[in-house]
Amino acid sequence: MKTNSWKKTVGTALLCGVLGAAVSVAVQPAPTASAKGLETIIGTAVQAAAASQQVEATIKHYDKTEEGRQELFAAYQKKYGVSENYYRKQQLDAMMPRLTKGIAAVDPTIYQKPYLYFVNKQTSFNAFCSMGHVMSVNEGLYSLTEDENEVAVVLAHEMGHGQKNHVASSMRKKLNVAIGAAMVGSAVGGSVLTNLALNVLVNQIDTVSITKKDEWEADNLAFDYVINAGYNPGATAAIWQRVEEKYGKSKKNFAGEIFSPSDHPTHEQRRENYVKKLFEYSGKHVTAEKGVVKVNGKALVQPVAAEGKSGAERSYFVLGNLAAAYHNGHNKSNAYASGNTLMLGEQPIMACYSGDPSASELATLLNSIK
Ligand SMILES: [Zn+2]
Repeated sequence: MKTNSWKKTVGTALLCGVLGAAVSVAVQPAPTASAKGLETIIGTAVQAAAASQQVEATIKHYDKTEEGRQELFAAYQKKYGVSENYYRKQQLDAMMPRLTKGIAAVDPTIYQKPYLYFVNKQTSFNAFCSMGHVMSVNEGLYSLTEDENEVAVVLAHEMGHGQKNHVASSMRKKLNVAIGAAMVGSAVGGSVLTNLALNVLVNQIDTVSITKKDEWEADNLAFDYVINAGYNPGATAAIWQRVEEKYGKSKKNFAGEIFSPSDHPTHEQRRENYVKKLFEYSGKHVTAEKGVVKVNGKALVQPVAAEGKSGAERSYFVLGNLAAAYHNGHNKSNAYASGNTLMLGEQPIMACYSGDPSASELATLLNSIK
């Protein structure tokens, strides 16, 4: 992978959602702290207060107004390029309304500020969400995974940052510095400062960092969003298994927001967090460990590598289907084989490939341990 600044940028995730929610929270009480910080930059309290007002006004513009959101959207498109991959565009056009509806089930505020999104031309594995719910997915994301369930996990993570405005405070600091500096000893204002802010938002995403706490919150929100949107909840753990297999355990291989370096959780910690959530979601009946799916503590299956996935990655998809089956009560019905697919009630559990046990063998075993 290239290590250009975009990756870093994206990676920091901050953008993710930075603009979105944070602003609203921060707008009222924040100016005191902002003005203090600005005073050290600018030198006088009067000028600092004026600069702080300008910062809040520009944040409000890009985060809250349709005009500002569209300007930000256009600026990101210009900076990162719009993908010509029609298939990916169509797929994203189908996924975003589905995820939006899923998020609305727990957070209806999403309808007040629908996401503006596009696939960009960057080849690194990344995605980001900025203020104003402006969001973008790199073409490079699809080189890591083409599985729609896993792509949904990445989008849901970014939208978690967006819904909670995680990046706003980081961006506010950057805007304070940039706008404060521009106002020192001069009378600039209005559109000059607005343009300056846009420049910061588009070009400095890469150096805005999201806290570890906020990363966990986005991961945990993504779990609920993905389930509410009807995707396989096991994809949450599966994508981190895939990332570890493809890129290694080191977080330093990534610069993108999703895999932010430094103090962020490791791939394994994030995967295991999801495994724990899947266990709870199943009513403590199902888990997966080292590639083996377990029901009530007993081994059901260790899938082989297939469908372009390792056995371990597949095990999390099986776990996700089983957890959903238990959560939705399908475990009260019998397991059976439908062609090469293991079913539990109405819930498909696992498509069996060459090297896997047969679906009927697994159905017999599942009925004896479920
Ligand atoms: Zn993130």
